Amino acid sequence: MSVGAEEKPDSFVEVALPIPLRQTFTYLLPSAFRGRIKLGSRVVVPFKNRKLIGYVVAFHEDLSESDEFDLKEVIEVLDEEPMITPSILKLTQWAADYYMVSWGELLKAALPAGINFKFDKFVGITSEGIDEFLKLEVEPKTLKMKILKFLSDKADVRLKELEKSFGKRQLGKALKELEERKWINVSSKPLTVTAKPKFRKIVCIKELNEEMFESLSEEERDVVGFLQASGGRLFYTDLIAQTKASVLKNLQRKGVLDIASVEVFRSPFENLSVKSEEKEAVKLNPEQKKACKEIKEAIESGKYRTFLLHGVTGSGKTAVYVQAIKTALACGKTSLFLVPEISLTPAFSRYLHSVFADEVAILHSALSAGERFDEWRRIKLGKARVVIGTRLAVFAPLENLGLIIVDEEHDLSYRQQEMPFYNARDLAVVRAKFANAVAVLGSATPSMESFYNASTGKYAYLHLPNRVKSPHLASYELIDMRQVVKKEGRDVVISSALMKALEETLSEGKQAIIFLNRRGYSQFIVCPNCGETCRCKNCDITLTYHKQKRILLCHYCNFQMSLPSECPFCQFRQFYFVGEGTEKVEEILRARFSSYKIARIDRDVVRKRTQLEDTLEKFASGEIDILIGTQMLSKGHDFPNVALVGVISGDNVLGLPDFRAAERTFQLITQVAGRAGRAAKGRVLIQTFHPEHYVFSCGQDYLRFYQKEIEFRKRLNYPPFSVIACILVQHQDEKYALGNAMIFKECLDKAKQALHADLTVFDVAPAPISKLKGKYRFQILIRSKSRKQIHQVLELAISTVEEANCDFRTVTVEIDPISLV
Ligand SMILES: [Zn+2]
Ligand SMILES: [Zn+2]
Repeated sequence: MSVGAEEKPDSFVEVALPIPLRQTFTYLLPSAFRGRIKLGSRVVVPFKNRKLIGYVVAFHEDLSESDEFDLKEVIEVLDEEPMITPSILKLTQWAADYYMVSWGELLKAALPAGINFKFDKFVGITSEGIDEFLKLEVEPKTLKMKILKFLSDKADVRLKELEKSFGKRQLGKALKELEERKWINVSSKPLTVTAKPKFRKIVCIKELNEEMFESLSEEERDVVGFLQASGGRLFYTDLIAQTKASVLKNLQRKGVLDIASVEVFRSPFENLSVKSEEKEAVKLNPEQKKACKEIKEAIESGKYRTFLLHGVTGSGKTAVYVQAIKTALACGKTSLFLVPEISLTPAFSRYLHSVFADEVAILHSALSAGERFDEWRRIKLGKARVVIGTRLAVFAPLENLGLIIVDEEHDLSYRQQEMPFYNARDLAVVRAKFANAVAVLGSATPSMESFYNASTGKYAYLHLPNRVKSPHLASYELIDMRQVVKKEGRDVVISSALMKALEETLSEGKQAIIFLNRRGYSQFIVCPNCGETCRCKNCDITLTYHKQKRILLCHYCNFQMSLPSECPFCQFRQFYFVGEGTEKVEEILRARFSSYKIARIDRDVVRKRTQLEDTLEKFASGEIDILIGTQMLSKGHDFPNVALVGVISGDNVLGLPDFRAAERTFQLITQVAGRAGRAAKGRVLIQTFHPEHYVFSCGQDYLRFYQKEIEFRKRLNYPPFSVIACILVQHQDEKYALGNAMIFKECLDKAKQALHADLTVFDVAPAPISKLKGKYRFQILIRSKSRKQIHQVLELAISTVEEANCDFRTVTVEIDPISLV
């Protein structure tokens, strides 16, 4: 639509677009649309040579003359009643600022994929084209003419359809020529939504008095009787199985029946069966009661507060969560319950569904588009007041929020690892603050940041130190691999001590879990004599071994050294390369325990949700004796008959070039150890070259570990004592990537100087994964005590990079990266 000069619109909108640019764009709002849209409405706008769907984030009544110049118009309004609620608009705006990502991309991520339109190209014939085609008196021979004939009696045709009929390869050139002659036009249009509300016909009795009944035929009386016996309402499809359509039609005509369409919601719960033990009433122990009481008071006060609920595995955190949700519901408020991974949701959602029935909605990426759309709408319409879901559920359109729970708050999967970056755990706290709600972060092994916040009083601390069912924690034994290597040779993967324990466990009819963490790309060295590994003298980060160059490299500051000929600590003249060999575990175990059932769980084996559930179900029922797995195994599952957990290489995670390596190791081992002896007394055996390291010597004592680790963080000035940003530069051409990284680094240094900022810019270094999907990757770390300064320096540097000839398309900026590997 075009607007004449006289009736120049006085209304403008600011639109956030789902593109990687961190800015919004101003568009003219044609008069026909004025007053018809609200904040959060989706609009179609022209952008460069494309059409994009954007989100209205502000209105302007007037702009200065110069700003109005050359503005483009909004093409279409997609929803007058916005999908994005004001609170989600506010939360995403905050997140876009904080993480320095595109607001539009965050808004897109906040909506279920089913309503995010896709564009498709359409081809239509013009009147000139029709004239041209009509000139033809014989059957068309050329491809161009064949296309014109095909289009002549149709409205716009999808390009894909044309490609199907004429072949993709020749089509392009022919269409281009036809377009140049103006015989056809090619346009892009938004496709209809992929997910729509689902309606079903329902039949119910409208009116039935004696007189009416008398007038019915026997067949009709049967139908009415059947309907009455079914409670007066049935789906049309269920009723039609009993009778004929004509009978129903007659009854409708006589005014006895009403046939109407109602919206039905596709439910992800349909296939979930509820186990009886999950319905068992739970009695709370004194610590649980205390936690419930404090959370209850906070919810009832209607003020923002965050709790850290620190409970050992099996301490009954779930019971506390359920009580808290009940409290929120009783206050007339809604609740959001975040869980880390899909593998956790079935058990939890089943449980929640058994308690709160249809009040519960579930949101995660493995739902079908239809299911996700319907669940999302049930939440938006206020039909579901309890939402359980993975990180994307932090944007659930709940109103009147009273409570947000983040279970396993330390878990990495809360972090969106690609653009737009965000951490759902941290956003949950911010959302609670905006909504004057209560946040509960639960974990057996809280993240350093959260425990630090609890120790400074920023979060309220709640402790559940005791297990509910079994008072014992599993016994915790370290196997010193230095001794094993001396006795059993360098190639040993499973020590004889672990083998013996496995034999004993299996012969007693118990089950075992063997845990291994494979991260093939990262190798490091340990001395098999003293157990030390080589670390960077600047950063205290494990140096990574690079085979081809035979060097050790720091991925934080680019410090390099050649592979030493002897151990710098004890002068032993041989190294052990960690990261090799763990794949052999399954092979070795299958050979040794051939009469037992062995299964493996990791991302290579488990592709589908059902496959994972299937294996876990079999293990729980005792069909499998030994389960081998990666960290997918370490979460949430309850196996009462497991008496042994073996950790093949406790050093694998510890050796990652990441300042959080010790924290990750402690979390993983504690979680996996929690699988042992939930009912019976169990054993945890850990193979390590470095049993003196505090991550192992603290056993499962979180507090002792925390104190050691927080000292290390403070000494080296790592979070929570500083803020870190990571700039990743990647490109297929290694030199090009490195060149851009060098320019970016220069811009950072200049910005730092100009602002007199107190922050460290590390040197350009290869990223720990130095090549991924054909792209070379370099990184620059920045660190400062001041979040504000990090933002200022980055903003200034980014505003100067283009001038300095840096190709910004190769650059991603990540604030608060949770994993530097
Ligand atoms: Zn040594
Ligand atoms: Zn370093």
